[in-house]
Amino acid sequence: MARPENPELTVGIDIGGTSVRASVVDPQGRLLDTLRTATPPTSDSLEHCLHRLVAELQDRWAVGAVGVAIAGFLTPDRQVVRFAPHLAWREAPVPAILTERLGIPVFAEHDGNAAAVAELHFGAAAGGHNSLVLSIGTGIGAGMIMDGRIYRGSFGVAPEFGHLTVVPDGRPCSCGKRGCWERYCSGTALVDTVLELLASHHYPRSALAAESESDPGSLTGRRVAAAAADGDPAALAAYGDLARWLGYGLGMIADVFDPDLVVLAGGVGAASGLFLDDAREHYAAAITGSGHRSLARIRGTQLGESAGVIGAAQVARQGLAARAAGSQ
Ligand SMILES: [Zn+2]
Repeated sequence: MARPENPELTVGIDIGGTSVRASVVDPQGRLLDTLRTATPPTSDSLEHCLHRLVAELQDRWAVGAVGVAIAGFLTPDRQVVRFAPHLAWREAPVPAILTERLGIPVFAEHDGNAAAVAELHFGAAAGGHNSLVLSIGTGIGAGMIMDGRIYRGSFGVAPEFGHLTVVPDGRPCSCGKRGCWERYCSGTALVDTVLELLASHHYPRSALAAESESDPGSLTGRRVAAAAADGDPAALAAYGDLARWLGYGLGMIADVFDPDLVVLAGGVGAASGLFLDDAREHYAAAITGSGHRSLARIRGTQLGESAGVIGAAQVARQGLAARAAGSQ
């Protein structure tokens, strides 16, 4: 039997390229219960998966709405997912489809914006005026806060920094272009960089070198992070490369946006202790007029990999509140 709805609690769902995470979140941004599974390949199997996750959480908690964070282009009203490079939805009215299927109000948000909402309300961007929340994971998601509000652009797709070309004719990207920023600054980029380094340099004390020799397909971004924390020289060199590209990209963004604060979120951002000091130096050197202008503070996330689900849950809470205000 379904429990009565409780608008105080909402479910946030973060649909990433590799995994789906669903959490019950309270109004203070605290996680009460979390489920995680692999991202299904088709839109029907994904919708079925979301239904199953929410139903399981509803068995334990009374929730008022669901927020879904999606890595893709949404219309400015957030009613239609136009394109999501890692998901099957195309021109799909996802909130309506899921509201019907789940039997509970569902709201959608771009995943970068969801993380920015979470950091703004509960985390490292609290009090930020013109802030950038960069979610570095499988790729790069971003949310911009201008004058304290999420900036969406004219057609709902801003900002899409991950696919700025930083290396003409560089590494191929799933978006169809080459040399995109996220191909040099992400968890997947870390793996590619390690493999390139191992092919061109000799690292006699690297555990990653031994592992990739015995099973070349086994490396993951998480494994590179763990190896770097253990002092693996190939992993540390890959983080050095990531820090350089991060500083370079932030320099370009600062020349357009001039932020006062940059928060690094996502799986890679959550391990920012491995590269933050380096990235700050590269950023300070890359920015135009270096030495003669104020630099944005760059700090790691306070919410870790939970920023997406916390933000999605907050979007659901805001969506319910807006509906209630509209019906009065
Ligand atoms: Zn791309």
